[in-house]
Amino acid sequence: MKLTFLLLLFCATAPTAWGWSNHTVGSYLALQDLPALRDAPAVEVEALEQFLSQQYPAIVALLEEQEAFAREHFAHYPPRPDSLKMPATPSDNLRHDFLTALRINPEIHLAMVIQPLPGKDLPEREHLQADQVMVGQTLSPWNRQRFIVVAEYEKVAPLAVLASAADEPDYGHDINLFGDNPGEVAARYGFGPQPFGDARFQYSSQAPFHMGFFHESAVVYVAAGFLQRSWPDWRAYQYMGLARLAFASGHPYWGYRFLGWGLHHIQDLTQPYHAKPLPGVDLASLLLLEGKALAGFAGDKQASIERVATRHMEVEKYQSTWLRRVLREGQPHPMLDAYADVAQDKTYPPYSVDYLRGVVSAESVDDSAAFDEAIGQWLESAPATSDFSGGNQLHREDFNHPALNRQLLKLLGHFGAHSRIYVNAGLAP
Ligand SMILES: [Zn+2]
Repeated sequence: MKLTFLLLLFCATAPTAWGWSNHTVGSYLALQDLPALRDAPAVEVEALEQFLSQQYPAIVALLEEQEAFAREHFAHYPPRPDSLKMPATPSDNLRHDFLTALRINPEIHLAMVIQPLPGKDLPEREHLQADQVMVGQTLSPWNRQRFIVVAEYEKVAPLAVLASAADEPDYGHDINLFGDNPGEVAARYGFGPQPFGDARFQYSSQAPFHMGFFHESAVVYVAAGFLQRSWPDWRAYQYMGLARLAFASGHPYWGYRFLGWGLHHIQDLTQPYHAKPLPGVDLASLLLLEGKALAGFAGDKQASIERVATRHMEVEKYQSTWLRRVLREGQPHPMLDAYADVAQDKTYPPYSVDYLRGVVSAESVDDSAAFDEAIGQWLESAPATSDFSGGNQLHREDFNHPALNRQLLKLLGHFGAHSRIYVNAGLAP
């Protein structure tokens, strides 16, 4: 019981909307030289309803096939209630039927927008405010995102559609889906109670779809079974199937957009704080902390909880601020190379439905302790920047922290490689 409580608190504290902050920027950098994308013709923007009505029977069949597969394949998968099946004949609310059959939040805006690369803002184009794009305020406070409106039938670059869509699952897809969440679908989706996530954050209920703790010890799972109730791999699988169907049936705009949604979940798991509840804390230390708390010395436990949240948040801020500066300067830079470097791509196994769990998250777990330690050393050596509540301290940051940067560039290399591998799998004929 006590261990469960401890772990719950630990996970609860990790902010969940950030897996390398704005996924669009990283996706542009990782994918811009991919031949299958670079050489692809521009695609026409298409309303979701058009794709759904033209391919209705194929979509219904795919979702049934996916449900049967998911029940067989994904551990701790909560079966979809049959009442959520798309009706055999299309109703007059195609979008709602589709979103609820996928079990994503039916209130998402699905705005027709693209995000440009920072610095290529196209100021003459109409743009939307964040609250017109996302449900609630899920933007991380230091992101400066720009949403350019695209019109139906307008031709857009595949990379722009895909990279923009890679950020979209953080705009509300997975918010308030659990039985104990507020809202209309909570009672209908069959996900059960929310296993983890910090109620202080409006978007915390999306955590079990954007994080996955797949490589803990058996003792931890016995004490804290809720850690196994997370499904980012299932989301990546759902969207991969939809992308392939859309491409094969002549709807490339939705092909790229669905592929971007799935890509998001792959990218999230390249962030060690999304793959490990307590980076750098082994089981023995965990039990010791809990033992001390039980003996009346809860200070260490509270400090550890806060430490994990702080390191996750501050390293993402450091990285995104550094990247924005690099892009503004417009010069070659090792961070840009890390995103784009294809040298390691061939060393990974081919993409499969188990790739997120078996490859991406396993690699993140392996790197998590060293990453956490490097962040800790950086924060200690730079006390002036350790309190970000004011928001301005990073302006004085020189980003000259070799040990931390080495870890970061390595992880961003993984982000790039896994992004290309997932996208190539979705684009393969
Ligand atoms: Zn996410």
